Amino acid sequence: MAKTPITVAYGDGIGPEIMSATLAILEAAGAELDIDVVEIGEQVYKRGVKNGLDPRAWDSLSRTRVFLKAPITTPQGGGYKSLNVTMRTALNLYANVRPTVSYYPYVETKYPQMDVVIVRENEEDLYTGIEHRQTDQVYQCLKLVSRPGSERVIRYAFEYARANGRKKVTCFVKDNIMKLTDGLFHQTFDRIAAGYPDIEHESWIVDIGAAKLATTPEQFDVVVMPNLYGDILSDVTAETSGSVGLAGSANIGDHYAMFEAIHGSAPRIAGMDIANPSGLLLAAVMMLVHIGQGDLATTIHAAWLKTIEDGIHTPDIYRNNGLSKKKVGTRAFAEAVIARLGQKPERLKAVEYQPMPAQIRGQQDADRKEDKRLRGVDVFLDWGPAPAVGLGRAIEAIDAGPLKLEVITNRGIKVYPHGNPETFLTDHWRLRYLARDAETTVAPQDVLALLGKLVDQGYDIVQTESLYDFNGAPGFSAIPG
Ligand code: NAD
Repeated sequence: MAKTPITVAYGDGIGPEIMSATLAILEAAGAELDIDVVEIGEQVYKRGVKNGLDPRAWDSLSRTRVFLKAPITTPQGGGYKSLNVTMRTALNLYANVRPTVSYYPYVETKYPQMDVVIVRENEEDLYTGIEHRQTDQVYQCLKLVSRPGSERVIRYAFEYARANGRKKVTCFVKDNIMKLTDGLFHQTFDRIAAGYPDIEHESWIVDIGAAKLATTPEQFDVVVMPNLYGDILSDVTAETSGSVGLAGSANIGDHYAMFEAIHGSAPRIAGMDIANPSGLLLAAVMMLVHIGQGDLATTIHAAWLKTIEDGIHTPDIYRNNGLSKKKVGTRAFAEAVIARLGQKPERLKAVEYQPMPAQIRGQQDADRKEDKRLRGVDVFLDWGPAPAVGLGRAIEAIDAGPLKLEVITNRGIKVYPHGNPETFLTDHWRLRYLARDAETTVAPQDVLALLGKLVDQGYDIVQTESLYDFNGAPGFSAIPG
């Protein structure tokens, strides 16, 4: 078999130890890899490279398109860019796949039945880094959810479920509140699910879903969710499975993929030969599936399960309960796995890895353009502490042309007309203008003319949002009350 080129980074802290252990197991198992080692992390940051990635690493990655990465130490202090965020966005790694499995009774856990795969959207949502301070009192962070971004990650979750013999895909959203952004994710989920009749699907509101995931994880199989919920909940499931040292993750894009342990560089135990290499090893197992060496992935995973079952445990999972038989260090653990290559676990469930279908890459629903019509504008003001009614009357006195002031809100709560005098007011106000009536058309020039008048009157406009209809349906949230 031709060797598959991969890029490898040993990282910081425990990184070099667990990477050496992982690569020793891969080599002993006969993985056909052509390894290119690159430097990332603390030393690179300290050389002044803001994203912590040696420039040569980009050349290597553009050639191999597969990255096996050990954890790094992020230097304290400002000015540094998160290497992981850089990788995800630069390489368009839209799906973060995190399997979490209980290895009960060999690894202590409150959830013996857990076998969940979280598929987290990796690029959008509140992680685009678009934040502003708008007034003295108010800061904002933009939550962006795109249709193609949602489609790709949700389709990936269903394809993953199908390829791995999973029965159900669950979606977590908060679309009772975020009707447009999480609503889009939910609708996309329902639409894509219809194309997978062989796989059960369901949706939960994330708060109750999270509570269920934390208490009865056995009722979930594959769970797909927007970035923030996925970030938080994949840590919750990893932690409840027994040890952060046990979970690996894959970051998947159409052209690149990155595999890593979910834990960090654990600097306090670095160099002591006690770190658990399992998280990185299981990430490497996912990598083997990705590069078409699924048989080897099955063999290594089985040997690893047998090692755990035989009670050969690193200190993080070693317990005096009769099931842990031998406390070993990183290197000895790797040797124990190597000695068991070809063996299968007796009680723990082995996994037969199937290749992920290649056609998932680049698959996307045809882009459909909708009829977009300008209906009005939301104008956000930084404005002083006077009562809402005063602002409302002053604003209504300004001629808005074909536009009409509908409502004023403060932090999203309606305060004019007919506001509640008890509402707590900040210095962040929104004026919602809509076309005077259904027949009136609004042009961008009408909005500009209105903004000019507001500025002339001394109002401090901190943001404007055009309000559009798409195929006749409002593309903006309604204001309750
Ligand atoms: P951490 O995951 O490194 O450590 C948390 C705890 O888990 C520590 O007690 C540690 O000893 C233990 N632990 C972690 N991995 C282990 C393993 N394989 N075996 C045994 N015990 C293990 O998290 P942290 O302490 O918050 O972060 C340390 C550094 O890692 C920071 O600089 C952080 O920025 C970085 N970090 C990097 C990544 C990454 O590169 N992907 C991810 C998270 C944190």
